[in-house]
Amino acid sequence: MMPLKDKIALVTGAARGIGQAIAWQLASQGADLALCDVQAEWLEDTAAQAKALGRRVESYALDVVNAAAVTEIVARIVADFGRLDVLVNNAGITRDTLLVRMTEEDWDAVLDINLKGAFLVTKAVAKQMMKQRSGAIVNIASVVGLTGNAGQANYTASKAGLMALTKTAAKELGGRNIRVNAVAPGFIRTAMTDKLAEPVKAAMLKLVPLGRPGEPEEVAQAVAFLASDAASYVNGQTLAVCGGMVG
Ligand code: NAD
Repeated sequence: MMPLKDKIALVTGAARGIGQAIAWQLASQGADLALCDVQAEWLEDTAAQAKALGRRVESYALDVVNAAAVTEIVARIVADFGRLDVLVNNAGITRDTLLVRMTEEDWDAVLDINLKGAFLVTKAVAKQMMKQRSGAIVNIASVVGLTGNAGQANYTASKAGLMALTKTAAKELGGRNIRVNAVAPGFIRTAMTDKLAEPVKAAMLKLVPLGRPGEPEEVAQAVAFLASDAASYVNGQTLAVCGGMVG
């Protein structure tokens, strides 16, 4: 089955972790890829495996908080591929510390990349999708944006904001046949969570009814579903992929 056959998909933060798994899953379901990451040199591995699946893949250096670069790169992608069917806003960072110790810089960096970055890329891509009168956008949020999490005031606020942005964009763009949804992963095994202290990981795992961390591929499957026509009447929703952590 190739539900995404010949669709053109832009994935931000595609160099590793969840973004890399999303890129490979979309490619395995037939999509051609515009891979973006601030660490462009890391994209080689993602690109090589997607190409091995027989898809067209182009890589672009992009910092999602750079508004001028976002406009320029999205225009270049449209010129290179001729259209854009899927956008996955995946780029994200953490700068964890307790609220009273959090610097303004920690706050701004996380809100800028996780929330403003998604706004900037969505705005540029939506203009193209509006011309086409079709498209699907998937934002990678987090279950902690629903629950809150000690030590993550900046991150939880950014992800709650991203889920609200998802709902608003779905309302504004639905009339042009553009669907906007979010996936909220729970505790997923990537470099982002590897750096957590063992007691923190153990405490998080206790909250997961399935009793194990999720794999990036399990998030990618949900993203591919929302990006595909199989989800043609799903709009403005957040799908938690968290092993039952948040009910
Ligand atoms: P990761 O750190 O392994 O990968 C993030 C990628 O984003 C990296 O390739 C990085 O270079 C890129 N990136 C960072 N800043 C960027 C910028 N300014 N512009 C473009 N690219 C940038 O993280 P991950 O665990 O794969 O997380 C991916 C997404 O999933 C993030 O949005 C994260 O918040 C979300 N998420 C992760 C988990 C988890 O448990 N790992 C849980 C919930 C949500």
